[in-house]
Amino acid sequence: MAANDDMSAEERLIARYFRPLATVPGAFGLGDDAAVVAPPPGCDLVVTTDGVIAGVHFLPDDPPEKIGRKVLRMNLSDLCAKGSKPVGFLLSVALPAPIDAAWLGAFAKGLGDDASHYRCPLLGGDTDHTPGPLSVTIAAFGALPRGTMVRRATAKAGDSVLVTGTIGDAALGVLLRKDETLAKRWRLSPAQRAHLIDRYLLPQPRTALAEVVRNYASAAMDISDGLAGDLAKLCRASGVAAAINVARAPLSDAARAALAADPALIEPMLSGGDDYEIVLTLKPDKLGALRAAAEKAGVAVTEIGHVTAGQGARFTFEGKTLSFARPAYSHF
Ligand code: ADP
Ligand code: MG
Repeated sequence: MAANDDMSAEERLIARYFRPLATVPGAFGLGDDAAVVAPPPGCDLVVTTDGVIAGVHFLPDDPPEKIGRKVLRMNLSDLCAKGSKPVGFLLSVALPAPIDAAWLGAFAKGLGDDASHYRCPLLGGDTDHTPGPLSVTIAAFGALPRGTMVRRATAKAGDSVLVTGTIGDAALGVLLRKDETLAKRWRLSPAQRAHLIDRYLLPQPRTALAEVVRNYASAAMDISDGLAGDLAKLCRASGVAAAINVARAPLSDAARAALAADPALIEPMLSGGDDYEIVLTLKPDKLGALRAAAEKAGVAVTEIGHVTAGQGARFTFEGKTLSFARPAYSHF
């Protein structure tokens, strides 16, 4: 690359903020037209992309050090749901003028921390100016033994349905972020309020579970638009139905407290977005082995129901079938 003072402002920006994240030789220090990725021998590359736009997916005053991390984690969650391990990612940013150096510095620092924590190096990207709102898009690559990607379309009647982590926290976190008075109405402690908001700002991809998903799941999916709608998508793809017992859904203490104060919150909790947990199905005779492997990986998994013949995902709570006005987050 040319000496610093010959570089355009765009090149300088890329070199300053993003080159430090390009830690693998195949990224050529972001100094070439493209990067080279060699998947491990005998492996497929699993590819996915996901992004955010200011005002649509995040609030303009969300902390910048968490925004890049969130977008990377959204992609890592997809890679994990398919049973793959991270290999690297591409980053496309569209920035409104004037460039906010403090924002960009914090954004790149957070992103770099996660890239090294999850061993998912930056390989390249694109940097543009936009007359519209700021947007960040990541394309991520994972690897797994050839032909073993876990599909949405392969659940079978009789399978158990499990989810990782806890459900509904982020949906409550968004509500709290938009209306300060809710924390009091839900009688949340400061720690409970902080927990829910943090779950919205910073998902916890279950990367440690990828191999377990690949070894045991009959089907799996990343929950990004709400458990109800996403499980319905998995059922549709598999040509099956599911019966879910809402009383068994894993909830954080904070979500339980909110739900006790306002039982109607069950709807946004099950149909709001941003959980970034995994819903998976498996043959019931593999439950014991999956539980042991998940425990070893340090990821909580909870059985919430089972797959049946038919169509749709049915959620029952206290003997009643829930119906959702809007089962999944949808942009349109
Ligand atoms: P082009 O003009 O072909 O789009 P650029 O000059 O934009 O190429 O990019 C030069 C190099 O910088 C490429 O390797 C590209 O992958 C990398 N790059 C550009 N923007 C980013 C970014 N936001 N993050 C990481 N790499 C980037
Ligand atoms: Mg470019």
